[in-house]
Amino acid sequence: MIAVVGSLNLDLVVPVPRHPVPGQTVLGGDLAQHCGGKGGNQAVAAARLGRSVAMVGRVGTDEAGTVLIDALTAEGVDTAHVLRTPDVPSGRALIAVDPAAENTIIVSPGANGRLSPADCEAAKDVLARARVTVLQQEVPHEANDAAARLAGGLVLVNPAPVRTGENPLPSRADVLLPNRSELAALLGLAPDALTDLDDVARAARSLTGAGAVLVTLGGDGALLVEGGVGTLIPPFRVDAVDTTAAGDCFCGALACALADGEPLEKAARLAAAAAALSTTRPGAQPSLPTRDEVEAFLLTARIR
Ligand code: ADP
Repeated sequence: MIAVVGSLNLDLVVPVPRHPVPGQTVLGGDLAQHCGGKGGNQAVAAARLGRSVAMVGRVGTDEAGTVLIDALTAEGVDTAHVLRTPDVPSGRALIAVDPAAENTIIVSPGANGRLSPADCEAAKDVLARARVTVLQQEVPHEANDAAARLAGGLVLVNPAPVRTGENPLPSRADVLLPNRSELAALLGLAPDALTDLDDVARAARSLTGAGAVLVTLGGDGALLVEGGVGTLIPPFRVDAVDTTAAGDCFCGALACALADGEPLEKAARLAAAAAALSTTRPGAQPSLPTRDEVEAFLLTARIR
């Protein structure tokens, strides 16, 4: 079983002819509503790949909270530890997308921000049993720390959005899964500072506090640094149409393969296949592939 401790957001997406500047009103197209949040996306990614998944999180007592819980349940995710917070709205992301597919996003964490160490304590049986506990950083640091402490299996940390300062990471991270700009930020560097693979490998080796580091590199694949040794996980060749949630798909699929007992390098290759497949379809959760789809893809897939 996999435990995902993290955020659940209702994404409200409006197409706009152009983004408004302060003080301006822009008339957009029809509103679309999707379930999202990194935690929710990663839980669904793992569940579609056939693993049993338990979610630990918080939503409001509002209609959005019901929509978020129902959507997870429909995917087979155990929501017994998704708690409802009275008087606080569920997390929402307000997303405007212009014709060039550039987006601006405002996230209102709402109930996600109320997830507490006590909530993780209440889920301690699940966390103790989980072969892999997955954490991201859209919920309070203290909750992540408690979950990392209570985890009986591997702790997989996706440090997104990145935190800087005194405690940038949860107290334990057996596998750290940043993308290139998050890795740079963790080292106090500019987001675009790590241009070539040698820079990425050197940066990953210099990170302390994590066991293995697996850096996702978008269309360039991923780089695994384990025991000081760097291994490139080459990208699968696909016609990418939308990379939204590719990172979440990679994370959920990696958790599945690690829960199956695969070594990190093989797990990363399977995750890269699932993530590549997710980029061939639009949207976040709708693009997440099933186990059958990934297996069929692997029969014909080619790496670059
Ligand atoms: P994030 O969205 O978190 O920044 P990335 O963009 O690094 O994550 O993508 C995560 C993973 O998805 C990559 O490591 C890679 O395996 C896969 N991926 C993303 N874009 C492509 C692409 N264009 N072609 C093939 N694989 C891709």
